[in-house]
Amino acid sequence: MHRPIYLDCHATTPVDERVLAAMLPYFRENFGNPASVGHFYGWEAEAAVKLARETIAQTINATPEEIIFTSGATEANNLALKGVAEAYHLKGRHLITVQTEHNAVLDPCVYLQSLGFEVTYLPVNADGLIDLQDLERAIRADTILVSVMAANNEIGVLQPIAQIGQICRSHQVLFHSDAAQAIGKIPLDVEAMQIDLLSLTAHKIYGVKGIGALYVRRRQPRVSIAPQLHGGGHERGMRSGTLYTPQIVGFAKALEIAIASQEEEHQKTLSLREHLWQRLSECDRIILNGHRQQRLAGNLNISVKGVNGQALMLALQPIVAISSGSACTSAKTTPSHVLMALGHSQELAYASIRFGIGRFNTFEEIEIVADHLLASVRSLQ
Ligand SMILES: *Cc1c(COP(=O)(O)O)cnc(C)c1O
Repeated sequence: MHRPIYLDCHATTPVDERVLAAMLPYFRENFGNPASVGHFYGWEAEAAVKLARETIAQTINATPEEIIFTSGATEANNLALKGVAEAYHLKGRHLITVQTEHNAVLDPCVYLQSLGFEVTYLPVNADGLIDLQDLERAIRADTILVSVMAANNEIGVLQPIAQIGQICRSHQVLFHSDAAQAIGKIPLDVEAMQIDLLSLTAHKIYGVKGIGALYVRRRQPRVSIAPQLHGGGHERGMRSGTLYTPQIVGFAKALEIAIASQEEEHQKTLSLREHLWQRLSECDRIILNGHRQQRLAGNLNISVKGVNGQALMLALQPIVAISSGSACTSAKTTPSHVLMALGHSQELAYASIRFGIGRFNTFEEIEIVADHLLASVRSLQ
């Protein structure tokens, strides 16, 4: 069977061969535990982790001590939200987030509500952006944390992170951002953007699955978080568990490559995205979801009017790997909460497609997908 064209880079990405090459020595030869301080194998692993930590910190203008390795962005978000809530509950019990956040932010918020915390879920406009005045109005004396993602995983929309950071800082409220989709693709600077906690992951930028990090600010202000995993006291007590040296080395390599090629990759994915949109917008049944420009270069999200979403997905499956606007959880299919927050009907939300264009896609692939999609829409309408 011919493998479909992969256009689902917001879900995950293939491992870059340079990342794999950097990781390989740490599986067999240099396999030591970075916490083994008494011998050569431990020192070797520890040195590799130290270097990786420095590289990752540098890319976001942080210091190495501010990086806590986690299993990915889901764990980083959980650690940020629950860790801050637990550490600051005597100061206040109110948090602010956005309706279009990833479930790895929304679900910990719902959990915190079950413990007695209050959460405000800010709405977004039809383009997917929050209103900064809404944010400012939502901040109360007992607000301890604001969590707003840098780039949305469905519609790619980029929230005004620097302005949000400024508002939070001026009200002395901590600011967390889920940057799982943004890291490596847009410039992120925790100082310039006044970010206090930042969630990262490797597998959306051609690293492996199962590794990520939480940046936690150490000065001005010094942020406290309550650990959510207790054990050997790794990561200065904030996240116990033996560090995964190969994954950490690969994460740093993936980030280093992404930053070095950021401008070039931005231009490449942008021109492929623009070409795809130019082709698809020929059809007046196809509408764009999310802001026209203020989005990730490789993201396109569309809805098709008057077409059965499931039939369209079935027609496209042999040709292209994409994601639809519905999340299938076991037996139940629900329309995307992100598209519903834009004000779409359920029908339009179901008949939507998310394209994630990445490093390894080509112009020819985009042409094939555009041809096939337009033909499928014609035959289904
Ligand atoms: C992928 C993703 C996550 C989850 O990251 P994992 O590393 O897979 O746990 C969280 N937030 C956003 C915005 C994502 O795109």
